Amino acid sequence: MYIHTLSDELRRQFGGKVYKISLSGGMTCPNRDGTLGVGGCTFCTGSGEFAAHGDMAEQLKSARERVAFKAKNAQYIAYFQDHTNTYAPPERLRALFTAAMAPDDIVALSIGTRPDCLGPEVLDLLAELNEQKPVWVELGLQTVHDTTARAIRRGYDLPVFEAAVTALRQIGVTVIVHQIIGLPGETPEMIAQTADYIARCGAQGVKFHLLHVLRGTELAQEYAEGRVEVLSQEAYIALLEDCIRHQSREMVIHRMTGDGDKRILVAPLWSADKKRVLAAMQRAFERDDLEQGSLYREE
Ligand code: SF4
Repeated sequence: MYIHTLSDELRRQFGGKVYKISLSGGMTCPNRDGTLGVGGCTFCTGSGEFAAHGDMAEQLKSARERVAFKAKNAQYIAYFQDHTNTYAPPERLRALFTAAMAPDDIVALSIGTRPDCLGPEVLDLLAELNEQKPVWVELGLQTVHDTTARAIRRGYDLPVFEAAVTALRQIGVTVIVHQIIGLPGETPEMIAQTADYIARCGAQGVKFHLLHVLRGTELAQEYAEGRVEVLSQEAYIALLEDCIRHQSREMVIHRMTGDGDKRILVAPLWSADKKRVLAAMQRAFERDDLEQGSLYREE
């Protein structure tokens, strides 16, 4: 069995355990504020449920306190996860990111954003910050299929994503791509096609998410009306295994399931018990002798 996990990669890069701490930049998203759309992606709640809030020094302090019981003298990645974290004037981004990266125990900066929010000034800033500490940018592709992208109202086309990956790689920034497994109407073949595309798009990392239905989203409405189905645990693990097999052996697997807020989880309810899900995954990976890269194909 072989999987190139994030924890292995962090140990290799930073020589020990590294924790991600979620911070809030207080930004919105053009897919929610009316610039591109108002409802956002149909599955999205804004995804800031785990982030600390307040000024940066306070956020870092309270986020560190949350993981302090796990390790003394830990190293951290400052992670801007909620909404679109390059959707603000470059000077505001500079102040925010510089403050987040400044402490010695912050070893890298990770920024979740949309590929259509990476203009030249933002790229210049990221290039400059990347000279100080490693900068990672996370892009929510979710699917390579235009029909699904339109159905979930992702709000950008594939060429926009491709241009963003090229630009980020040109400035030396690490690119991590998100895929949601189980999107409405997608067959196992379509899911594998997205995984195969991600494997060869130029990204160095991938996050796989189970499609969660969360209260208050448009997806929850579609689910209530019987228009959307969710995966069983067994089906999810089988699809995930296939997606991992399509990645190169070097691709870093950052995440193998989502981290939806249990308080608003509508379905699938089996996903709420994360420990049990991770244990089931581990058993399946060993049973199937899962080899990352076994279905990878070069260009
Ligand atoms: S781009 Fe991200 S933050 Fe914006 S609506 Fe979609 S999932 Fe939510």
